Amino acid sequence: MQILAVIRWPMAAHLSGLCPGFDGAVSVCHALAVSLTFSPLKLLFLIAWVYLCLYCIQRVELTPLVPKNRKGLTNLATLFLGPVSLAVLLLIDIWKIPAAERGSILRMFTERLQNISESIKSSGLVGSKHSTIKLLDSSGTELWEIYGHGKKTRQDSHTLDLTKEIIWDALEGRASDILIDPRSESIYTVRYRIDGVLREVQQMDATTCQAVINSIKAVSSMDISERRRPQDGAFVAKMAEGTASFRVASAGVLNGEKLSIRVLNQNVSEFTLSNIGLTEKQRNIIENTISKPSGMILMCGPTGSGKTTTLYAMLNSIDFYTRNVITVEDPIEYVLPNASQIEVNPRADITFAKSLRSILRQDPDVICVGEIRDEETAKIALQASQTGHLVLATIHSNSTASALIRLLDLDVTPLLLSSGLSMVVSQRLVRRLCNYCKAPAQLSQSQIRDFLKRKINYANIKQAIGCDYCLEAGYYGRTAIYDILVFDDDLRANIANNTLSITRLRKEGDQRGKSNLQKQGLLKVVSGITSIEEISRVLG
Ligand SMILES: [Zn+2]
Repeated sequence: MQILAVIRWPMAAHLSGLCPGFDGAVSVCHALAVSLTFSPLKLLFLIAWVYLCLYCIQRVELTPLVPKNRKGLTNLATLFLGPVSLAVLLLIDIWKIPAAERGSILRMFTERLQNISESIKSSGLVGSKHSTIKLLDSSGTELWEIYGHGKKTRQDSHTLDLTKEIIWDALEGRASDILIDPRSESIYTVRYRIDGVLREVQQMDATTCQAVINSIKAVSSMDISERRRPQDGAFVAKMAEGTASFRVASAGVLNGEKLSIRVLNQNVSEFTLSNIGLTEKQRNIIENTISKPSGMILMCGPTGSGKTTTLYAMLNSIDFYTRNVITVEDPIEYVLPNASQIEVNPRADITFAKSLRSILRQDPDVICVGEIRDEETAKIALQASQTGHLVLATIHSNSTASALIRLLDLDVTPLLLSSGLSMVVSQRLVRRLCNYCKAPAQLSQSQIRDFLKRKINYANIKQAIGCDYCLEAGYYGRTAIYDILVFDDDLRANIANNTLSITRLRKEGDQRGKSNLQKQGLLKVVSGITSIEEISRVLG
């Protein structure tokens, strides 16, 4: 009764303003209202009631179920019976839907709710998500201060919005790279690399895109006027979810300028030896080697094969409190809170080799070398691994065998190589099938015959389909497959005594590595993690 009174009172007061003869109603409502006190809950209820009434009136206007000449009367009834009539109208709606489709009513409601929230967002009532992102240069100055010189003109703010949107969408889409380049004299394209595969997300006219490129160059501390000479830079994006770093490279190309932006946003603490795709056996081997006080673990693989991720996963499994960890990187990709990280800078004459020499004077237990590129670094790192240091390093090569050949090419003696190295890990990244849309694979008769012959259970093999969640790619996220070469006494003796010739190493080693990777890939295929097509795409 109290609730009804609080609803009717303002309505009656409103009506009395319109018709002077309504004083009787006012006095009744006044009497009721005197016993009422104001509370925010009541106000909220009132607003909800009014809203529902208006909504119901709109429904009455649209529904064919109420004859036109009765609509006035129905509106009046609706005004007082708002929520009740809403329920009736909803029931009518449900009744009108064919029985077979009634199961999807819940989905219909959630879709309606999503539509409403999206229309609110696009109407600008709530700021779009990308407006919460802040782009900062290395000194912490915000983009609009650098690019717009502190003054926001309309043109500038449109450019800055576009830039923020590109960065935001890349982060949300888990892109590892953003490529902006001219397709023709008048059109530029924006592409994202997601799970290792490039896809075009936007086309822009050259003038707008050049402004976006300039804004990114400005925040990356690059020279805007220089459009031909290659330049490097970096910037940071801050948002509620955390901070992401970006490395930018520009170069003049045909029809304009190309910008490559590498996203370094992964949370490094997420990588551990148990979540990077290693089998239990492989993980045990690596953990065992890492726990030893000395020796070298060498990671290899082509560009973008996830070597650095594995390196950080290994570092994360090391106890920073009992072991002094120093890294030399080019550049520092992720910050490790408890390790000393040194960044190589050839311009300032800080090279891998020089940094390594100075590190050795700081009594490290674990040394991490970002990449072995030259003879001096290779030799110092291998010597350090024999003198009571655990050395983790990466080298650019396609297989475990070619990593050894590369070290020998760098004039490392077979004796130094065999006594220093503990293991070589070669790896490739494969895309994971999207869990929301993967479906049982359609296998050909010859594939089934092959699986039967090899006694492989193919019941769980899945294939990519594509859905909204994975942006129609059929894949979401990646995992790695590994080939691990452990240096046992036999291998050491073979290499040290030169009984394993380079030709033999190249031939047999490459074959062994490839078949091992294929075996690991097949394991991931039969457990439905990735597809047959993906393994052949990656391994060829
Ligand atoms: Zn999907």
